Amino acid sequence: MRSVDLAVVGGGLAACSLVAQLQQRRFQGTIGLVEAGRGPGGRSSSRESRTAPGWRLDHGAPSFNLTEPPPDELRSLLNQMEREGYLIRDDQPIVGLNSAGRFTEAPQNAQLEGKRFRGQPSMASVCEGLLKMADPLLQTYYNKRICWLERDRNHWHLSTDDKAWTLAARRLVLSGNLLAHPRGKSLMRWDAIPLRAAVTKGFDPQLDDVLSCVSASSASIRWTCMIQLSNTQRPEITTNWPGQIWLDEGAQNRWPVERLVLQPQQNGGLGLVIHGLQESEPCITPEGGGSPAEARERMFLDALPGLLACMPRGESLLKEARSWGVMRWGAAQPLDNPLPSSLQWCSSSAIGFCGDWIDTPGFGRAEGALRSAVNLAGTLTANS
Ligand SMILES: Cc1cc2nc3c(=O)[nH]c(=O)nc-3n(C[C@H](O)[C@H](O)[C@H](O)COP(=O)(O)OP(=O)(O)OC[C@H]3O[C@@H](n4cnc5c(N)ncnc54)[C@H](O)[C@@H]3O)c2cc1C
Repeated sequence: MRSVDLAVVGGGLAACSLVAQLQQRRFQGTIGLVEAGRGPGGRSSSRESRTAPGWRLDHGAPSFNLTEPPPDELRSLLNQMEREGYLIRDDQPIVGLNSAGRFTEAPQNAQLEGKRFRGQPSMASVCEGLLKMADPLLQTYYNKRICWLERDRNHWHLSTDDKAWTLAARRLVLSGNLLAHPRGKSLMRWDAIPLRAAVTKGFDPQLDDVLSCVSASSASIRWTCMIQLSNTQRPEITTNWPGQIWLDEGAQNRWPVERLVLQPQQNGGLGLVIHGLQESEPCITPEGGGSPAEARERMFLDALPGLLACMPRGESLLKEARSWGVMRWGAAQPLDNPLPSSLQWCSSSAIGFCGDWIDTPGFGRAEGALRSAVNLAGTLTANS
């Protein structure tokens, strides 16, 4: 039977910084990291295309920021990532856009405060670099969505939907809250919340508190549209051009878009990711039939001529533009009820939690994911 000392579910920023930090803290034991997707990154991953080799578009977070000075351990992790070339300071200007299609000052937004960083060459590189740091300790398992959790006296048992793949672990960390949230029941057609089913109510009061906090929490829904804007070099846009263009309220009333993110490619091409507005209710399909994804894509592409008007030779860009389609983020960013950091580790059940849904500076953003991971790594090494 496959077995590790610590199983970490998820391969996003929180999970990858947790395992890298455990390596830095000389954690004693084997670690298995299990991710539902094809690779690491989660909401900070990059999309590749079979038809456009070398292209990578960051379809989730395009960068991240630190609003407060990080603790020493996080600073040292980020410094090492910068030294090894996976991470760079993001100094590209950010501007606003008004309803007349003219540039204005950047809006006030928690995602733009403080120091900004981005992955090099793309956001997925951040998680890839963190996993390299954790290498000697780590076994990674991709394309494995954990649907079942069981707990016996000393071990957690994790398995995929068909139970064909299983992993036993002395300790468990969940970096997302799907296995603890009622939304998993409708999304995954589960009869019960897997974490609740694994540990009887009353056995671990701390875990009961975690489950009630998580069940009261909600997250935003968001769509992004990935566009291969130009295959040729566009120095007039890639040099000194804003990296992100945020629409002001008037512009958002005209186009249903939060921001445009320009992504120069290593091969000289230029990509564009259009971020839709945050939505808190299940999406209403725009009129005109087709699947919700097709309707969303049409909506973004209809807005493109107006949005590209702010760019030099926007019309010629429009002729070259090729859409890679849209991505729906069902839980893009947590909105409320952060999990208190005092509940990040439940010792009676040997389970811990990290991610942007923990109550730390940066809640709902990459900063929160990173900080929560460093916090939890401290607890895990103190208890190992
Ligand atoms: C469109 C968009 C734009 C954003 N922009 C910004 C921004 O500008 N600045 C910023 O700071 N933040 C931004 N964010 C938020 C940022 O992406 C997240 O805060 C951060 O990436 C969260 O990292 P995480 O590790 O906590 O979670 P995730 O990245 O979600 O990682 C959790 C991982 O766990 C995996 N997983 C979950 N359940 C299971 C299971 N049962 N079995 C196996 N694997 C599982 C998931 O596949 C996922 O990879 C944005 C998010 C989106 C969607």
